[in-house]
Amino acid sequence: MSNGAWSTPAQKSLRASELGPIAAFDADSTPGFDGDKSDGEALLTKRGEHFADLQELLYANGRSGDDRSVLLVLQGMDTAGKGGIVRHVGGLVDPQGLAITGFGKPTPEELSHDFLWRIRNALPAGGRIGIFDRSHYEDVLPVRVHNLVPQSEWEARYTVINDFERDLVDQGTTVVKCALVVSKDEQKARLAERLDRPDKYWKFNPGDIDERAYWDAYLEAYQAVFDRTDTDYAPWHIIPANRKWFSRLAICELLITALENLDLSWPPADFDVEEQKKRLAASE
Ligand code: AMP
Ligand code: MG
Repeated sequence: MSNGAWSTPAQKSLRASELGPIAAFDADSTPGFDGDKSDGEALLTKRGEHFADLQELLYANGRSGDDRSVLLVLQGMDTAGKGGIVRHVGGLVDPQGLAITGFGKPTPEELSHDFLWRIRNALPAGGRIGIFDRSHYEDVLPVRVHNLVPQSEWEARYTVINDFERDLVDQGTTVVKCALVVSKDEQKARLAERLDRPDKYWKFNPGDIDERAYWDAYLEAYQAVFDRTDTDYAPWHIIPANRKWFSRLAICELLITALENLDLSWPPADFDVEEQKKRLAASE
């Protein structure tokens, strides 16, 4: 009997280092979770409330000068559901507490700076949950697959990224990295749907079909990312994404864990509560 519960915590069952090679990964699987779609949806509703409470606590602390923050880094092939995570997981909390940034092909201005420039400009302030829809990892994914810069340049970036994330964590940002993995067949079905539905044309990019020819090269590039940048201070999680209900549940759970680990409490009043009660009572 499934009861819709995690048998292994998501941060362990989905940790890149716990899972085998990405090329053999089952995008239909639900590692660590015992339950079906209706169980998962019911649990997300419940856990979403807890997530919202924790986010409010983070925000309240930010307002009181705590500069800690959380950064969710979303990567994944086209159609993997990154936008759905932003809407359905980000959408569970007060939007004022979020700082969402999507990273597309670099603009001429962005290209004139080092690859982390646009990333640094988008980091969440204290009290916020930042969400990156694509990230600095694009600079070792499409850039590596297509050698958009010489190999010597992208090779050096793994270390630069690790150092950058180390600093970020030291400055009080909890970094949660999630790679959404969709199967090649499921991607084909999702692209076909975009072509069948006028309300989805806007998401379709003819270039996405060209990228399918580089599927194996992308898997290799993702494997290199996991091998070289899955650190204990900024861990990678691999999120099977063929079942959208599961990827949303899993990422909500990872964010809850990140927030719980901050061990926050409500900031104390910076005024005399009794005095203010008396003033209020005495007011008209
Ligand atoms: P989308 O997420 O559908 O809006 O697409 C954004 C596109 O920008 C994708 O094709 C990404 O691979 C591409 N992109 C994002 N960052 C970079 C980068 N640093 N270098 C090259 N392409 C990038
Ligand atoms: Mg796209």
